Amino acid sequence: MDSVEMPSEDEDSKSAVTDSKEVHDVIIVGAGAAGIGVAISVAHSGVEDFLIVDRKGVGSSFAAWPAETRFITPSFPSNSIGMLDLNSVAVGVSPAFSMRIEHPTGQEFAEHLQGLADFFELPIRENTNILSLGKAGGLFHLETEEGTLFARKVIWAAGEYQYPSQGAFLGSELCLHTSKIKSYGDLTGEDYLIIGGYESGIDAAYHLSKQGRRVRVFDQNCPWGEESSDPSVALSTFTFERIKSIEFETNVELFSEKSVQSITFDGSIYELKTEDGEVFQSKNQPLLANGFDGSHKFVSNLFEHRDDGFAELTDQDESTITPGLFLAGPMVRHDGHIFCFIFKYRQRFAIVAQAIAESFDLPTDEFVEAYRSWGMYLDDLSCCGQECLTC
Ligand SMILES: Cc1cc2nc3c(=O)[nH]c(=O)nc-3n(C[C@H](O)[C@H](O)[C@H](O)COP(=O)(O)OP(=O)(O)OC[C@H]3O[C@@H](n4cnc5c(N)ncnc54)[C@H](O)[C@@H]3O)c2cc1C
Repeated sequence: MDSVEMPSEDEDSKSAVTDSKEVHDVIIVGAGAAGIGVAISVAHSGVEDFLIVDRKGVGSSFAAWPAETRFITPSFPSNSIGMLDLNSVAVGVSPAFSMRIEHPTGQEFAEHLQGLADFFELPIRENTNILSLGKAGGLFHLETEEGTLFARKVIWAAGEYQYPSQGAFLGSELCLHTSKIKSYGDLTGEDYLIIGGYESGIDAAYHLSKQGRRVRVFDQNCPWGEESSDPSVALSTFTFERIKSIEFETNVELFSEKSVQSITFDGSIYELKTEDGEVFQSKNQPLLANGFDGSHKFVSNLFEHRDDGFAELTDQDESTITPGLFLAGPMVRHDGHIFCFIFKYRQRFAIVAQAIAESFDLPTDEFVEAYRSWGMYLDDLSCCGQECLTC
């Protein structure tokens, strides 16, 4: 960190008043899996002056998962043959080895991230909410309640979880988003309607079914019937195993190709109407499992956008209209490739770190070679999109 003399307040002001400001080479917004992982890459690339800021604390989104929810991607200590544990965010690290757990809960993974932050001695400023981000005079200005932070480069790693989708149908605000549920054990009703049948919706249905609740799940597509082997599109193996459990088979009904048109509540009964005119009722508040808007919307003015709403990025995951602003985490998209899991988006951390290190004239050949050898440097996307053989 250094301090520079720069005009205080108004950029356009010709005022001679200057002020000493805290300026970092890099500020990383978010201390989740992406923020912690990309910070370790940045440190390995040779950049020394970086700071992570988080509105809460390390891994706080994971800590807020419903208590019963577990990772669908398994952890396994495969590092000894140079294959990184699927849930690792850093070279050499294995959550399976450090936690002795194959499918961690969110709380367990949050503790793992805190362990990484301690081990790598990452500089983190917690309880620092970024209220706005802008760029002026060659520096990024990050407004917080305690004042403004300045940076030459910013990596936006603020995730999705704290930015849930509200739903595109009438009455969606009457539902309870699954990201607001502390524990499925707290839901004591007899039957539940769930809108959204991808991972979160099926996870909710599974835990409720285990408690003997009747569940009906509605999805506009058919995630449980997808032919793709890409878990960004189809359900994971872990989830298919759960669907085959006796409690799920007994208590859960799956409705595919059912778009929800509206939800109403007359004071005692919730009524769900589908676009093809069917009506379903429940006494209990329906659950919304329709995903997340993504925190990139929070800084949408600093990115161009693709037709699907995701940020347009350069080959280095940098904004195409705001040089120096990078994106890390599950919101990264390139063409049809969806980097929504840790084992996918972690492969872009070193791409970002390299771009930043080179902009500060640091040599990166050794760093890139080391990361590439660990499968942590994915610059050639032509290998993505392969389907598994069906034999
Ligand atoms: C139910 C569920 C199950 C999942 N299972 C898996 C799985 O098995 N395997 C897998 O790979 N992925 C899984 N995922 C996806 C995984 O959770 C995400 O990939 C991961 O959380 C993304 O990490 P992140 O660091 O980008 O975001 P987050 O973990 O959300 O971290 C973002 C951080 O940014 C902070 N922040 C946000 N806005 C601001 C702001 N304005 N100012 C300051 N700080 C801010 C937050 O406090 C937070 O700590 C799952 C997701 C869900 C919801």
